[in-house]
Amino acid sequence: MRLYGLTGGIASGKSTVSRMLRELGAQVLDADAFARQVVEPGTPGLAAVAARFPNVLTPEGRLDRVKLGARVFGDATERAALNAIIHPLVGQAFLERVQELAAQGVERVVYDVPLLIENGLQGGMDGVILIWVPRPLQKARLMARDGLDDAAAEARLAAQLPLDEKRPHATWIVDNSGDLASTRAQVERVWQAVLARG
Ligand code: ADP
Repeated sequence: MRLYGLTGGIASGKSTVSRMLRELGAQVLDADAFARQVVEPGTPGLAAVAARFPNVLTPEGRLDRVKLGARVFGDATERAALNAIIHPLVGQAFLERVQELAAQGVERVVYDVPLLIENGLQGGMDGVILIWVPRPLQKARLMARDGLDDAAAEARLAAQLPLDEKRPHATWIVDNSGDLASTRAQVERVWQAVLARG
């Protein structure tokens, strides 16, 4: 089984590219989906989060992401405490899924992880696909997609490593600054290169 990381930054086009990869037949796993799954009601993950962060459950016993987000957004210690609970559970869910797929004969998996490089996970991958756009375009797409003003968009961008600093870690770079046809053509070339590796 070969593992390929798919990363970028907020609004750089990861969802767009992962959809294209799926259309090409890739098995794409989504770290954000695992991160939601491991804190579903009744999970040990939710119990651990609720024990460390009081008053972050809704009356129905679900995780209140807005409340939790407010507790960790500006506080590195609290964020590290949350990550120490969530990251190992996400890693475990990912490995279980990879083992299932391997048992079904799947030979390669693309793992979509927004903070792959921030979290130092690139070393565990057989290659990394980076979705890159120039910063001003990243900000413009973020503001348009999420209805954010300039300051709110800047705050979100500042919480991540700039895309330009991620470039040295990439095996392949998809420049998503053109139209979707240009991106699709690049994604097809990358996928051919991935398949050619066996
Ligand atoms: P991410 O998943 O990295 O946050 P998205 O795939 O949601 O990013 O893309 C961010 C926004 O930019 C979305 O509104 C998307 O429709 C738009 N977008 C992505 N790629 C392009 C492109 N090549 N041309 C125009 N708009 C794009």
